Amino acid sequence: MNGDAWENVIDIEEESAPKSAEAVVEAARKVFASGKTRPIDFRKDQLKKFLTFLEDEKEGMVKAVHKDLRKHRQESETCEIELVANDLRHTLLELKKWSKPKCPEKRVVNLLDGVYIYNDPYGVVLIIGAWNYPILLSLGPMIGAIAAGNAVILKPSELSPHTAHFLATVLTKYLDKETFQVYLGGIEETTELLEFKFDYIFFTGSTQVGKIIHQAAAKNLTPCTLELGGKSPVFLDESADMEKATKRILWGKLLNSGQTCVAPDYVLCTKATEKVFLQHATKILTEFYGADPRNSTYLSRIVTERHFKRLVEFIKPEHVAVGGKFDAETRVIAPTILVDVDPDDPVLREEIFGPIMPVINVKDHKEAIEFINAREKPLALYVFTKDKEVRNAMLAETSSGGAVVNDTVTHLITENLPFGGVGFSGMGSYHGKHGYDTFSHQKAVLVKDFTGFTELSLSLRYPPYNDAKTAI
Ligand code: NAD
Repeated sequence: MNGDAWENVIDIEEESAPKSAEAVVEAARKVFASGKTRPIDFRKDQLKKFLTFLEDEKEGMVKAVHKDLRKHRQESETCEIELVANDLRHTLLELKKWSKPKCPEKRVVNLLDGVYIYNDPYGVVLIIGAWNYPILLSLGPMIGAIAAGNAVILKPSELSPHTAHFLATVLTKYLDKETFQVYLGGIEETTELLEFKFDYIFFTGSTQVGKIIHQAAAKNLTPCTLELGGKSPVFLDESADMEKATKRILWGKLLNSGQTCVAPDYVLCTKATEKVFLQHATKILTEFYGADPRNSTYLSRIVTERHFKRLVEFIKPEHVAVGGKFDAETRVIAPTILVDVDPDDPVLREEIFGPIMPVINVKDHKEAIEFINAREKPLALYVFTKDKEVRNAMLAETSSGGAVVNDTVTHLITENLPFGGVGFSGMGSYHGKHGYDTFSHQKAVLVKDFTGFTELSLSLRYPPYNDAKTAI
């Protein structure tokens, strides 16, 4: 077991690591080969039990996430448990429709044939979760995987050990034990798992580890979805409603103390707009967290000492415009806004993933576009403006996994929108129907007709070949 993750966790190994990676993968292979996971009724039954788990075990999940991150109950309920429950309810309602073979439009040559697209489960799916939303990011992908008829092995993050343990011991009581298994561990255990062949790998985590996963998947040509991170910019145009914009930016930034994959990472605006932003920010942060945010129960703690040390290194006093205080004992960092930062400073090169927000001055939206396009493609782009031209230019001339105009983060919870990255922020997407599609192979099926008319038309393709046949 590696790192600082397993501290304070009692009996995890004893209770839930009896099976080797080989045994877990073998069991999943066996159950998938038996055909048990394929019938729609089985999938629906499992999804209903999954929903019962979310409803009955809410308290246990809230407590586990609190132990891992000191996340406020309301954030755990609304930004984790309820999101998974809503996706589950939606999937249960739609599954019958989604899973029916689709009939694409036919051309004259196929008028008497059946032309279909079947949805096949891939088989054995490995889901690797991240620690920052340990319920949402472990259980969210499972919905599509179960709905599509796969056998699932879930490997939650070792950095949220209480939640990982809870899922391994309690979720597995609700779901079919052979079909859905939870495998606990860190880098060593994940590396061990990746030695085996999977039919699909779904990974949530950093770009750096995403590359390792992609390489491991390539050995067996295993398709994968990579839900990664990066630096999601905000462009704050002078035409925006400044008070509302500031509130929306800070809310998205400070959920889970900035440890959110789609958290706004930095703000691009003019020097004049920066001045107004800072004035509003000071007032709003006091409203949100009181005079000394380090005492607020609404701010999560930074996940580990290593992450905390990395973050406080970013806070150089000469650049602090708001906040700047932190507490090593509780690992809480007050929301901090930095100004006049050099674009080559580490805070503008690495993904921040904490409650620190640099502001970078640009002349206008054109310069903001240049700044964004000179860097890796972000997971999200946020534009605050009332100017249609600015909005259209920002959307058309940049590439990002998703984009929101005049808000942050909420594209992630908007029904029917795919969620995923592009370039270094990831590949593939999920949520709702997109999750079902991700875990289904679309199989092209042609059912040929046996009638004399069809046979006559087919006769053209058989040897002996001659010019008269090709002329028709
Ligand atoms: P991470 O990449 O360190 O770890 C993710 C998972 O990979 C964990 O389960 C871990 O056990 C495993 N892992 C770590 N190192 C490994 C290695 N060398 N070999 C094999 N497996 C390994 O990421 P994290 O710290 O858990 O999460 C933070 C990152 O994830 C941020 O970059 C964030 O933006 C990103 N993220 C993305 C999304 C999204 O939906 N796109 C959501 C949350 C977090």
